[in-house]
This record gives sequence, structure tokens and C-alpha cells, in this order.
Amino acid sequence: MLEPSTSVQYVKGIGPRLAEILAAKDIKTVDDLLHYLPFRYEDRLNPRSVAELRAGEMATVIAEVRNSGLFRTRRMPIFQLTVGQGRNRLKCLWFNATYLEGRFQPGQMVALYGKVEADRDGQLQIMQPQYEILGDIYEEGGASAAEKKAAASLEIGRIVPIYESAGQGRLTPRWFRRIIRWALENLNPDLPDPIPSAVRAHLSLVSPREALWRVHWPEAGESFADLETSRTPAHIRLIFDELFFIELGLELKRREQKAQTGVAFQINDAVRQAIKKILPFHPTTAQKRVLKEIATDMQTPYPMRRLLQGDVGSGKTIVAFQAAIIAIENGYQVALMAPTEILAQQHYFSARQILEKAGYRIVLLTGSLEQDRKRDVRRHIAQGNAQLIIGTHALIQDRVEFEKLGLVIVDEQHRFGVMQRLKLMKKSEDARVGTGLSPVQAEGSKAAQARVARTCPERESKGPSPANAQLSEASIRESSHRSDPEPDVLVMTATPIPRTLALTLYGDLDLSVLDELPPGRTPIITRAVPDERAADVWDFVGKQIAKGHQTYVVYPVIEENEERELKAAEQMHRQLREKVFPNLHVGLLHGRLDPDTKERIMREFQRGEIQILVSTTVIEVGVDVSNATVMVIEHADRFGLAQLHQLRGRIGRGAAKSYCVLMHGGKVSEEGQRRLDAMVRTTDGFQIAELDLELRGPGDFFGTKQAGIPSFRVANLIRDRELLEAAKREAGFVIGGPNAELSKEEIARALKAMRARWSLSYGLAEVG
Ligand code: ADP
Ligand code: MG
Repeated sequence: MLEPSTSVQYVKGIGPRLAEILAAKDIKTVDDLLHYLPFRYEDRLNPRSVAELRAGEMATVIAEVRNSGLFRTRRMPIFQLTVGQGRNRLKCLWFNATYLEGRFQPGQMVALYGKVEADRDGQLQIMQPQYEILGDIYEEGGASAAEKKAAASLEIGRIVPIYESAGQGRLTPRWFRRIIRWALENLNPDLPDPIPSAVRAHLSLVSPREALWRVHWPEAGESFADLETSRTPAHIRLIFDELFFIELGLELKRREQKAQTGVAFQINDAVRQAIKKILPFHPTTAQKRVLKEIATDMQTPYPMRRLLQGDVGSGKTIVAFQAAIIAIENGYQVALMAPTEILAQQHYFSARQILEKAGYRIVLLTGSLEQDRKRDVRRHIAQGNAQLIIGTHALIQDRVEFEKLGLVIVDEQHRFGVMQRLKLMKKSEDARVGTGLSPVQAEGSKAAQARVARTCPERESKGPSPANAQLSEASIRESSHRSDPEPDVLVMTATPIPRTLALTLYGDLDLSVLDELPPGRTPIITRAVPDERAADVWDFVGKQIAKGHQTYVVYPVIEENEERELKAAEQMHRQLREKVFPNLHVGLLHGRLDPDTKERIMREFQRGEIQILVSTTVIEVGVDVSNATVMVIEHADRFGLAQLHQLRGRIGRGAAKSYCVLMHGGKVSEEGQRRLDAMVRTTDGFQIAELDLELRGPGDFFGTKQAGIPSFRVANLIRDRELLEAAKREAGFVIGGPNAELSKEEIARALKAMRARWSLSYGLAEVG
């Protein structure tokens, strides 16, 4: 009897060698194997006879091999197979398919699937059909006639599942069919359904056992359209299953966070006045609404966990500063973490412009500060002199000691996802630093400070021995659980996230959306321009500068090719400075410059002393110079859509009309072209994000491999949006607790299944 958790090695026909091939496809257990779904189905219930075929239709034919062979044309080798039934013939051709030589033997039965066409002589043919040799069916499957018949019955006279082969063709669809069939037949029949019956009823879900059988072996009456779009009841059950347990984990996480003690900030008239006083403009309706959502969270005695999502230029910064004021006015410190040093500096400039005149004490803590200065800054933070601490994620997470941390603002831009955040949390727990969402919060507790004081290298000499430290840490951790409130956390992201992704990637957070741009913006005009017309572009840039505006010229630098591309950027800089605009100040900014230089150049550009800034993508995030009205992006077709959108968001920030010029060479890939077209067509970040998600798939959507996207076995976030919404709703229902429909036992069983899946799939047993 097989259990879902049984290793695939125990499935009949799989030894250690094949198990290894399967492991490479992430198939390690029986459960994994059963979730290796067919990528399509073939209707071999009523296969066509060759005589019935008509040109123009997609068809499955089962016929006998007559002859086959390779012939060479001037351009390429072509493999030809002729099959027949009686006197009727069908020709099949594969290009460049030398590997097919010798594969077919006359007299074998083969199944062929593809589009039927008529050749020049009116003879029917299929180009590059999917094929499967059935000929040896009758030789396999054991000795008895019954067994042979059973083996053959998996291949014809039914809807047949087609699996992706594995191990370079060694594990064929037929092999999977037999193996999966055997696993299904031998699976423990008494497995309880981990989804509570009420949830099953809400969605009319079939049982897991039925789902697995029907997804692999559809019944004769199953709708082919539903099979092809993964919308049969069997598919729906399996997809829902996967999404439900992810959402259940996220929902639980959310509730747990809310159950902890947070700071209940007071918002009285004085605080309200302070918030209003800093505003350099009238907030938009969206800004007001979002601030209210944040303020409401901050007033509750539970820790806030909120995602503030807003397109580039929607005005997130000021909202974040307002939240900061609430905390500071209540006597707490605020940490603002940015993903890059440049962005941290940028936030620091704006904070000083907006907050310093109100008397708030702001410090910048970056890796490039000198040791002495850093120690100074840390002391200010520890003593509570610094009220707003701005730095990079890495730096602030790295053991900063706060006097009284009340709010953490994380400017993620588009770099983090929920999995990453949860891993961070796990890491902080491994390091025994406490209870929070990220190490930073743990460090915020008084108790943790004691630990920091002992473990910081600078102070180690006076510390107790490590063994003692561990001991006392454990007890400190205990007490910190009880006494120290968790700081509030506000996560900001500039990537408009399609709702489906928001529900998974950020499913543990509450969501606020800034869906309105500040007034007085004129839409950015975007054009794709071939490199030959560069002279016209520079001409145009010159005119804009004559009107007093500034220009960005962006160069792609990808890591693999950093050296060469940096040179290209430098060369462009030289050419613009010496040849094209000898009378203007043309600056150069890239990631390799030392931080002081970077900062100086950014300042000069902000003050308008540099008119043209040639830059690599370091300006992508957050930089704000409203007088810049032109962005020329070189090799624009090489950038991803999200990145192009981010870059373009650097302009159009003032009242003057802005222009984005997407330069490209002669040869643009099809996908590159689609990206350029999308950019020209729309400036709506959500539309762009949706398209980006479609073009790249969720895995790549957030740019890096570690973006923290859960990977799915059967679900597809683009196709399965509705099921995801349903999963979230039902997860909320289950976490909401026992009721007339839902027993305690069922909840417990669902949570147990959820934990098992999270620990298996994401290596995060900690959830829940
Ligand atoms: P982002 O959401 O991309 O971080 P910012 O907070 O940098 O956007 O705001 C973009 C620009 O719009 C800034 O120059 C900011 O000063 C300005 N801004 C923000 N809110 C408003 C508003 N309500 N009215 C006018 N200008 C605003
Ligand atoms: Mg910003």
C-alpha cells in the first residue's frame, strides 16, 4: 500500500536510477508523481481511420507503419514516415530529425497527432506530428493474454493522458502512464480529505482520490475543452487544493501577527497638526484614504503589517513620512529601509527637506560611512537621539540597537516576496533574536539589545562566554515575548502587482493601494526610435534643455557583461560631453563609483547643475528630480517591462510635458518588440504589470530568482485567478474558527496538512 509520502522508489518499475531522473523533475514522493499532470490529452476513443482524414483538421490517427527513412534536401535532413490502413496512406514529415532514424519498424502500430494537410499532389500529410509507437504493446505487460490486453487498453479506446517525457526521452509518456496508473491502483484508499467538508461543499469539490484518477484517466464523457483548459472538476480540485493550503498558511501568519502585542499609538490633535504641517501640497484623495488606513492600524494594540502599493510617482513617500510622524510624536523611533544605498540617500534628502524643518532628528546609516561616523550614528540610535533612521536593508538588519523602535518602513520597490520575508524571519529565529517579521524588529526589543550588546564584535571582549550567552538569551527571549511590543511594519512597493500575485506574494499583509497620481501631471509621451535616428533624438534633447529641463540617458548594464557595458556607458558619456553637447554639463553615474561620488553627482543633478545624466540602471529606483523631462533609454528592447516602467517613472514628475525615448537597434526580438509596443501604448502600471506577468510568468516577474515566488505543481497564477480568490476566501473562513458548518477536528486536520505542505514545498516549517 502506498502513502502519498512514500518515496517513488517504492513504485513498481522505478529503481534508484530512475528515481534520480525523477528527482531532477522534483518528483520525489508518490504524491509528487501523482501531481505530475498530463500536459495534454489525446482522444483515442474514436481515432480516425486514414480514409476519414480531411485536410485542415487536428486529428489522432492510429495506423500501421509501412516504411520510413531519412532523406536530405539541400537545406536540411527530413525524416519521412508512411503509415497506412488498407490501401490508404498518410505521410508524416519531421525536419532535422536524424534522431528518428531506425525508430519505426514496418508493421508496428503508431498513434499520430497533428494537423492534417494536403501536399502538392493532394496526398495527405502531417508535419511534425506528435507520435507514439504502440507496436510493442502486445509484447509487453506480462505473459497472460489478459495482462497484454490491460496494457493495450491504456493506450487506445479512451482519452489518453500525454505527459512530458523525462530523462532525455527515456521516460516516455507511455512509461508515465503505466507507472502513474500503478501508483493510483496501489494508493491507500482510506486517506482522509484534509479540506473541511464545508469548504468542499462551497465549491462542489470532488474528493482527492477521484480528482487524481480523473485527471490522469478522464472518463469517456469528459469535456475535451475542459481538459485542455484544466477546468474539469478533477483539475479544479487539485488546483484549489494547492492554492488553499498556501493561502491558509498566509492567513494564519496574518492572524498570528495580529495576535501579538503591538504599540497602540495615540493620535490626538497635536499629532494631527504635526502631520498636516509637513505637507508641501494638498494630498490626493488616495493619499488621504491610505493614510487613514495606516493610522487606524497604528492606533490598534496589534502590530501593523501593511503593504502600501502605488505606481511610480503616486506619492508614497509623503504617506510614509506621515506615518513616521505618528510614531515619532508618540515618542518612538522609526527605521526606514531601502534596497539600495542610492535610494537610502534619496530618502534621506527628502526626509531632510520635509521633516527636518519640523525639528525631527534624522540620521543616515549606510555601509559606506566611515567606522567612526558609523559608531557615532549607532550611538545616537541607541540613545534615542535619532528619531528617523534611514539606511539599506542589509545595514539596519545587521544588529542595530534601537532605544525604542515603533515603526519599520520597508521600501521594497520590487525586490521581496513573501517567501523571502518568511525566510528572513526564520533566519532571525535561528539566530535566536526573537519573534519578529525580520531581525530588525527583534533587535528593537530592550531584551534583544542586551543580547546585541554582548554579541556585537566591537563589544565582545566584555561579554560572557558563548555558552552563558546562549543560556541567558533563551531566558531573555522568553521575557521579550511577554513584555516588548512588536513594532508596526509598513512595506512599500512601487511595482504594481496584479492582484493575484499580491494575494500570494504579499498574502500575509493587509493591502493599501495608491491608485491616483497627484494632480497636474501631463502624461508621458513614449516613442520607440531606431538607432539610426539618434541625431534627431539629441536634437530634441538639446531643445528641451534649452527650455531649462534635464535629461536622463540610461544604459543597460547586466551583470554577466558588466565590464563591456560599463565601457559602452562611459563611451556614450564621452561622446555626448565632447561631441554632441560640448557646452553642457553631462554627468555619469554607475554602480561602481564610490558612494561619495555617487552622492555628489546625484546632488548636482538634483540642483540642475548637471543637465544630462548618463546612467546605468542605478537610477531605476526612487530617484526624484521633477525638472527632468526626457529619458532616453539605450537598447530599450533588452530591458524587462517592469524595469522600463520604473525607469520611465523617473520623469513626468512635474507639470512640464515629459518624453520617454526607447532606442533600439535593427534586430529586436519578438518579445522585445512586444515590450516596446506596450510601453508606447500605455503608462498604466497595472496594465504593464499584467502584461509583464504574462510575458515572463510569475517566476521571473520580480526580476530575480530569489524573488520569493512559491512555485506551483498544478496551479498557474495567470490562469487560476478565480480559484486563488476562492482559496483566500475559504482560508479566511477556516481560520475564522469552528462554527456550525466547521468542526474543530476539521480545522486541526487542515492546519496539519498545511504545515506539512509548507515544510515540504518551501522549507518553512515555521508557519503556524
Ligand atoms: P513614489 O510613489 O514613486 O515614491 P513620490 O512619493 O516620490 O512617489 O512622489 C512623486 C512626486 O510627486 C514627488 O515629487 C512628490 O513631491 C510629488 N507629490 C506627491 N504627492 C503629491 C500631491 N498630493 N500633490 C502634488 N505633488 C505630490
Ligand atoms: Mg519613492
